[in-house]
Amino acid sequence: MAIETDVLVVGHGLAGAHAAYQLQQAGKSVVVISDEQYKASSVAAGLWHPLRIRSVEWSWLADEVFPFAHQTYSAMEKVWGAHFFHPKTMVHDIPDLNFQGVWKRQMEKLGSGLGFREENSYRPSDTGMGEIQEAGWLDIPTFLQCSKKALGGNFIEATFDYHQLNLKEDGVEYPGIKAQMVLFCEGNRIALNPWFSVLPMNPAKGEVMKVKIEGISEKEIYHAGFFLIPLGDQTFRFGSNFRWDRLDWNPSEEDASTLIEKLEKTIGRKVEVLEHRSGVRPANHSRRPFAGFHPEYNQLAILNAFGSKGVILAPFFAHQWVLHWKNGKEMNKEVNPKTCKMPKIKENKTTFVP
Ligand SMILES: Cc1cc2nc3c(=O)[nH]c(=O)nc-3n(C[C@H](O)[C@H](O)[C@H](O)COP(=O)(O)OP(=O)(O)OC[C@H]3O[C@@H](n4cnc5c(N)ncnc54)[C@H](O)[C@@H]3O)c2cc1C
Repeated sequence: MAIETDVLVVGHGLAGAHAAYQLQQAGKSVVVISDEQYKASSVAAGLWHPLRIRSVEWSWLADEVFPFAHQTYSAMEKVWGAHFFHPKTMVHDIPDLNFQGVWKRQMEKLGSGLGFREENSYRPSDTGMGEIQEAGWLDIPTFLQCSKKALGGNFIEATFDYHQLNLKEDGVEYPGIKAQMVLFCEGNRIALNPWFSVLPMNPAKGEVMKVKIEGISEKEIYHAGFFLIPLGDQTFRFGSNFRWDRLDWNPSEEDASTLIEKLEKTIGRKVEVLEHRSGVRPANHSRRPFAGFHPEYNQLAILNAFGSKGVILAPFFAHQWVLHWKNGKEMNKEVNPKTCKMPKIKENKTTFVP
């Protein structure tokens, strides 16, 4: 007998886990099929903050997505009885007087949420540090583990085979499963999806390390073109870089050395690397996610392309997607595959390099 469910979700990274949670909160049944291959969520540092650092402006939809993410992760922690959402002040290095001027001007313009400190507690400097109060990190492995546990028997660890999906008038059939629709949350493997691979992705590779640094402040997150997230015992999550020319998943010794050199030079201390991994961010050319339905097939939907902001954007757009489907709420035009602007690109990088 086939399992009958409202929605079959493919992929259990941040997107799939949030989609499953929001669907269940809305009283819908859900089955998630996922494997663990090439999962950006397992590489990500989990950092979140609301600033576009170069211009010192609030990021896209910050006033909506941040309160929603706070509320959602706090509720999930209560329901699942676990702790994975860690708000923490972030300090940003101010390299010169010019940037100090920009920072101070923007502080006045943006109002609360930003601060300025005369002293830099990470390196000798007379240009100070900026302070971002609304920041933190998500312990993504713990979060995903809790989500999997909460799904129980509705989580199937397997690779989804696109060729076995039958599109019917009133839904979809997949061996052993009948559903109203499939919601694809496959991250970069969207490139292998016969219905959605046409969407213009622009994935970016990055390195993330766990490092040990003696004698440095562990009070807050430090950002100086790289980030250091304190994990305790003088260890930190450290990263990252963006590369669009190499999209394999192998840790790059060369890129890691460049990052470590920059870190050691900035803080003037020796750094010991304890762990190193690398991955590819599923990102769109226009730096917006995709959330909505296929232009031709109402049984096929997508939630993807969260770029470097999966922690904060995935809860919000999973919720928006559910409201769009259930209540007909209009989806933000920039993210809806039926209406979003397809940028003119020389080369479509919807590609997947194992
Ligand atoms: C180096 C690096 C650093 C990052 N740092 C941050 C950060 O600090 N903060 C932040 O917010 N974001 C960060 N990100 C981005 C973040 O990782 C992504 O935005 C987010 O993880 C995307 O989640 P996702 O669920 O869309 O994709 P993924 O996490 O890639 O999950 C997709 C899932 O689908 C499964 N899947 C795909 N195809 C199939 C199939 N056919 N059958 C079965 N399963 C399938 C995969 O196995 C995987 O489990 C970082 C990413 C990288 C690479």
